[in-house]
Amino acid sequence: MANSTPALIVVTKFHPAADVRTLHGLGVRDVGENRCQEAAAKAGDLAGLEPALRWHFIGQLQTNKAKSVAAYAHAVHSVDRPALATALNKAMVAEQETRGREPLGVFLQVSLDLDLPATAAADAPAGRGGVAPADLLGLAELVESLPGLRLRGLMAVAPLGGNPDAAFERLAGLSATVRESFPHAGELSAGMSGDLEAAVRWGATHLRVGSDVLGPRPAVR
Ligand SMILES: *Cc1c(COP(=O)(O)O)cnc(C)c1O
Repeated sequence: MANSTPALIVVTKFHPAADVRTLHGLGVRDVGENRCQEAAAKAGDLAGLEPALRWHFIGQLQTNKAKSVAAYAHAVHSVDRPALATALNKAMVAEQETRGREPLGVFLQVSLDLDLPATAAADAPAGRGGVAPADLLGLAELVESLPGLRLRGLMAVAPLGGNPDAAFERLAGLSATVRESFPHAGELSAGMSGDLEAAVRWGATHLRVGSDVLGPRPAVR
């Protein structure tokens, strides 16, 4: 388990770019977004900030948006199927050739919804997303083989209404399994405002916190 303090990613979805600028002024460097268009617009608005913000994409992502996300993202926490990994890789290889970028950091999102059938449709993930635990190692192997991506670890959202400790215990076990094959991929993106204490107990290295930092989100547009 990680003993060091987890990194805080402030989830700024629905909040305007001006608020993200304020956070940057307060020292925040890592921000999380879950909608492609909104994130691209804000990243564009704030591209001149020094030191640069690191944009973490944490939402469900269609393959046809991979190129847009690769242009600004520091990491994608929601890679949950082979088609998305290959689309992000293709976009990143182009970024590397034209702009000399580092490989894109990737967290594999695991589904911890035990009772739901796996809904890994080819390109329209249902529910909260996430690869089924049985398919996790295969996806990790694929990401490892792609030069534009760097496997960092796992991400999960605790099932609604479930016990977050049980969910994150399971995630910690899956992380240990992944580390047996990929020792460098031990990071864990887990914990939001409602369950971050449980996530820290189970070794979270990255917390994705929105409302506990920024208050309630503005109404959905
Ligand atoms: C919105 C969101 C968060 C932050 O949620 P809060 O409850 O506001 O802390 C974290 N992770 C994901 C995947 C999200 O979509």
